[in-house]
Amino acid sequence: MTKENFDVAVVGAGMVGVCSAMWLQRSGKRVVILDKNAPGTGTSYGNAGTYAPFGCVPLNSPQLVKSLPKLLFSKSSPLSVDWAYAATHLPWMLAFLKNCAPEKVEHITAALANILAHVDAGFDPLIDAAGARDLVVANGAIYAFSTKAAYEKALPGIAARERHGVAVKVLDEGPIREMEPALRMPIHKAMYFSEARHVLDPKGLIERLVKQFLSDGGSWRQREVSGVTPLEDIVEIHCQGADDLEAGQVVVAAGAHSKSIRGSGAETLPLDCERGYHIVFRGEQDRLSRVVGWQEHGFNATPMGAGLRLAGTVELAGLKKPLNPQRIDYLTDKAHQMFSGLGEPEEEWLGHRPTLPDSLPVISRSARSDRVLLAFGHHHIGLTLGGITGRIIADLAEGRVPNFDISAYAAERFQR
Ligand SMILES: Cc1cc2nc3c(=O)[nH]c(=O)nc-3n(C[C@H](O)[C@H](O)[C@H](O)COP(=O)(O)OP(=O)(O)OC[C@H]3O[C@@H](n4cnc5c(N)ncnc54)[C@H](O)[C@@H]3O)c2cc1C
Repeated sequence: MTKENFDVAVVGAGMVGVCSAMWLQRSGKRVVILDKNAPGTGTSYGNAGTYAPFGCVPLNSPQLVKSLPKLLFSKSSPLSVDWAYAATHLPWMLAFLKNCAPEKVEHITAALANILAHVDAGFDPLIDAAGARDLVVANGAIYAFSTKAAYEKALPGIAARERHGVAVKVLDEGPIREMEPALRMPIHKAMYFSEARHVLDPKGLIERLVKQFLSDGGSWRQREVSGVTPLEDIVEIHCQGADDLEAGQVVVAAGAHSKSIRGSGAETLPLDCERGYHIVFRGEQDRLSRVVGWQEHGFNATPMGAGLRLAGTVELAGLKKPLNPQRIDYLTDKAHQMFSGLGEPEEEWLGHRPTLPDSLPVISRSARSDRVLLAFGHHHIGLTLGGITGRIIADLAEGRVPNFDISAYAAERFQR
């Protein structure tokens, strides 16, 4: 029996995979998207919806190392570590900490700023093509500090953003309370990012993009991909419980699960996950007019279409453990400090940010084969970077040189 055959198969229907599929289609390819679940139901479902061209300051930092004892042992911390998991994943933990050295942080910041400078060129054409402007609100974002100490710790990050041309303004308490009168927590100062936007429904956005992709002739198959075999002129794609497919090229965009695509080269890379949580208060979205981050506590509150979503925090505990109710309690407690009169959240969610220890994505050819392209590791900013990642992937698939330097995102940096 002849196998189904496409120019390109994209594994993963999250923000990164779907945007890649659309950009590949735009360069004339016959593309299929494969996902074991419905589009937009992975990590891309539950993020804070912040389109963050300002997001060049990584979690890795000398300040993080200094704050670690407090972050790890405080009962109320935005960071939580499963020690049994950490003990079995020490190389990743140590590599992450090594990337907190000042010269590494400067390299990461510059490399993130470099790609973030191009995000609109990756995102806006797709949003327009899908008629999804109504799902994107351009009203900036406020990242607030309750204490002087927290603000002062953020000063190197503010300076780095300014050095890299990010529009950031520091606001005092008065203007912040005027802009967002519902906030009840103590406020010392805030960063205001005028170029930030937010998405009213991250899953709904992906569904619109997929609808457009399909109506432009793209294909979708619900498949769990177990591995790929790159051959001389084709890549075989192996699916659990279904026939294999063939494609000229394959894009691995399975987010935090990308290592499970055997034979792609992804399995050799130090990909892990930063778990993050969200809660939703339905019908409470009118309390804010833009994204408000609470910096000390590591989350954003976003007024979405269906409610007020608080999303963020970091838990290092891998892909397999179930949702940790203590992390939900933490977010709920902070929600009640941030706003008065909120009830109990109606939705609780755990997601897995795909993260490399240097907080840079992998967007490159695989060392295994030129026919395999890798697009994962977008950690805290995958909603923002999905569009431009897709554009780079389409360039690589076509043999075009992208219009900016992408060497910092090469998989081979881990082989050097
Ligand atoms: C709490 C939280 C808040 C966040 N807030 C923001 C934010 O405000 N702004 C921002 O820019 N980013 C944010 N992020 C990050 C962002 O959500 C992620 O970086 C992004 O969703 C990653 O997209 P992805 O397409 O790589 O992965 P995913 O969305 O996880 O998609 C991967 C897909 O691959 C599929 N898959 C996996 N294995 C297989 C297989 N073997 N076969 C077939 N399919 C497979 C999965 O089913 C899934 O659909 C946040 C993340 C979290 C957790």
